[in-house]
Amino acid sequence: MSASLSNIDPKTIGQPPRSRKHKRSATGYLPEKDEEGKAVWPLGDEAVWKSGLRGVHTEVPSIAKSIVNHVQTTLARQAYNLDNAGAYGAVAHTVRDDLIINWNDTQMHYTRKAPKRAYYLSLEFLMGRTLDNALLNLGTKDAYKESVAKLGFNVEDLIDSERDAALGNGGLGRLAACYLDSSASQEIPLWGYGLRYEYGMFQQLIATDGSQLEAPDPWLTHANPWEIPRLDVTYDVRFYGHAERFDDKNGIWSGGQEVVAVAYDVPIPGYATKNTNNIRLWKSAPKRGFDLNSFNAGDYERAVESSNSAEALTKVLYPNDNHMVGKELRLKQQYFWTAASLADIMRRFKNTDKPIKEFPDLVAIQLNDTHPTLAIPELMRILVDEEEVPWKDAWEIVTKTFGFTNHTVLPEALERWPVPLFQHLLPRHLQIIYDIDFEFLQAVEKKFPGDREKLARMSLIQEGMPQYIRMANLAVLGSKKVNGVAELHSQLVRTTILKDFVEFYGSSKFGNVTNGVTPRRWLDQCNPDLSNLITETIGVPKTTWLKDLYLIKGILDKVDDETFQKKFAAVKRKNKERLAAYIHSTLGVTVDASAMFDIQVKRIHEYKRQTLNLLGVIHRYLSIKALTPEERKKVNKRVVIFAGKAAPGYYIAKLTIRLIVNVARVINADPDTAEYLTLLFLPDYSVSLAELLVPASDISQHISTAGTEASGTSNMKFTLNGGLLVGTVDGANIEIAEEVGEENVFFFGHLAATVEDIRYQHAYHPVPVEQKSPALARILNEVSSGRFGDAHVYEPLLNTIRQSDYYLLTDDFDSYLEAQKMVDDIYSKDPIGWIKRSITSVACMGKFSSDRAIMEYAEEYWNIERVKLE
Ligand SMILES: *Cc1c(COP(=O)(O)O)cnc(C)c1O
Repeated sequence: MSASLSNIDPKTIGQPPRSRKHKRSATGYLPEKDEEGKAVWPLGDEAVWKSGLRGVHTEVPSIAKSIVNHVQTTLARQAYNLDNAGAYGAVAHTVRDDLIINWNDTQMHYTRKAPKRAYYLSLEFLMGRTLDNALLNLGTKDAYKESVAKLGFNVEDLIDSERDAALGNGGLGRLAACYLDSSASQEIPLWGYGLRYEYGMFQQLIATDGSQLEAPDPWLTHANPWEIPRLDVTYDVRFYGHAERFDDKNGIWSGGQEVVAVAYDVPIPGYATKNTNNIRLWKSAPKRGFDLNSFNAGDYERAVESSNSAEALTKVLYPNDNHMVGKELRLKQQYFWTAASLADIMRRFKNTDKPIKEFPDLVAIQLNDTHPTLAIPELMRILVDEEEVPWKDAWEIVTKTFGFTNHTVLPEALERWPVPLFQHLLPRHLQIIYDIDFEFLQAVEKKFPGDREKLARMSLIQEGMPQYIRMANLAVLGSKKVNGVAELHSQLVRTTILKDFVEFYGSSKFGNVTNGVTPRRWLDQCNPDLSNLITETIGVPKTTWLKDLYLIKGILDKVDDETFQKKFAAVKRKNKERLAAYIHSTLGVTVDASAMFDIQVKRIHEYKRQTLNLLGVIHRYLSIKALTPEERKKVNKRVVIFAGKAAPGYYIAKLTIRLIVNVARVINADPDTAEYLTLLFLPDYSVSLAELLVPASDISQHISTAGTEASGTSNMKFTLNGGLLVGTVDGANIEIAEEVGEENVFFFGHLAATVEDIRYQHAYHPVPVEQKSPALARILNEVSSGRFGDAHVYEPLLNTIRQSDYYLLTDDFDSYLEAQKMVDDIYSKDPIGWIKRSITSVACMGKFSSDRAIMEYAEEYWNIERVKLE
């Protein structure tokens, strides 16, 4: 074998020349027209082709036939050796066939109509399971159920055997998944772009001492029927090397290392429509199998090493939520993904044969947080260096194309990258960023002459040793519009972290789109009994109200109807029993489904204040224990449930989990309180676990320090399913209360506007906990004393409260207890009143459908329209 072989691109070997008769487009071939304008059949015998084409399976016999066919051929198995996992595989492949048919038709339709399209760049898509959702959206669940039964299986068992796709940390990734569902359901031409991580969110285990252990999530070890590998859709992505620049701001980037991005498509079916959108996920691969030169020189290990380093790029999802970790590999992931996505978008645009200046008329790109901000200098590089567009025109194209969604104001979450790292990895992009910064600062200086501090704050470069690049500033500069994710959050963004930019650009560039959740997964799929009850009550078909969620207001007519109240309460009770059965089977603990279910499930984070909840539980425990057996009979019974993952490197969050688990061990073993209080930590929180928990809550807790939770989306899921909120005046809690009525939300705690002042007092006029909240001080001492084991282990966690108390637990504790007392009183003394609050809450949740949110983006941010596939 000669070394020159390595110069041959393996992709060009053995491929027939492309036919000149057909124009290659992004998603297929456009048909040629004859003289009368009729489409000419492109290939072979039209009749033979057409006899082979079919639609989506809808009838039991054809579904069963296809499943059997997949058992026999795709799986190479038979009825004699088929278990649930195998049957799931065959059913999934049958549904996959249906999805692909609609996917193909949708993409062909988009290509022919050539409307403006939007692209959602998100480093995370927290999809959960697909089978159930696909069946419900296609409207074929009943037919599949019957077909599967005829083959000797139970469809629900097969649905439960699916493993979650967990390519995300929490709220941000789940939002992306809800938005893709809504875009397909509302027939909006939107594609998602992300990474195909080989390992998703880690699996959480609880060790015998109560601590979190992390195990890898190799979710692709079994074939994944929900993706379509596009091994022919590839782009080369460069790293390192050197950059030269010329006078008119263009340049050349060369050398370094090249990696290949390979596309994998995930079809996203709309609900009750044929429209099927797409998430394109990139996998990294070495540019050649391995380095032939090293291989021939006998250095096999080095040859494999470079191919390993290319593949390492998309190996694993970073497990940090709302916290920036400045690892080189993470920056490489971000560039790899944005470069591949932009190359793909550019290729699709070029297939329209439109001049480059019309790019923003056909393309809108939404940046989900700052993670994809490199798309801004990358599009500049493509336009200026490759398309030879003058710098000013290029910048105009860029700033008409992008939109930026900010997800947090927490300082530790704001992305900034060290200039030396950036210089090494992306030398040409650094030049471009310097050029953007230079022009921008000139404009700022012109508008606000002599304000050096303002210049320093607004610059893309943060001074220091080393310097840093501020990604949020870059995202703002390069975008047409910037939005936050709930009213309060958007207001905080405008008045704090982006205040200078609002003064410079004017306020019209800064808006709000309050988050939403898809009512398909978060009502119909997870709570079918409530969904059916709504349908029968409002007399509107499910396929209508699930796409226009404001219609559920109709149940308000029945809020005083006793029969309806009973039915509504029975649904909640059944969902609680379903959760109780799960708890029994996983933890071996028996819980009383007649007790109040009080749930806090979300990432474990100091700002979300799981510790406040836990200290409240300890207070409850000690209070009940102090009562006589007779007095205890009046106590409102509660089951308090926690779940959530802590970032593996987040010490305090992991300590919180350990304390919850150990407090639970003490409480659950105490016969004095057993009847009245149970505390549980459910391991390995996921979308599927959320689907079990959300319909089963009587109350759920969303108790972040005011001003820290941008929106929250699980608050919406719980309320939509009839659980009431205990919450702070923060994020979307505020808008939920506006919709359902403040009397139906248990608010407590200090307001966002006062948080800064209180922190200042903590720093300069500290008041000891004993004085501020004697109740809290006593509880902290109980933990310190070792009442819940490991006397000294929890001191670092307790000290965050005793010392700076950045998240204001001492300030909010007493008010939290008061809110909880109200909850207990109403739940135990006025059960009918409680049901009415719950019904009213569900009825008023129309606003929080992600359909409403996606239409706001489409109309006010992207300027795109529905493109319905007939
Ligand atoms: C909805 C959801 C979240 C977001 O929860 P918040 O309470 O809004 O932070 C996180 N994880 C999963 C699995 C979810 O389904």
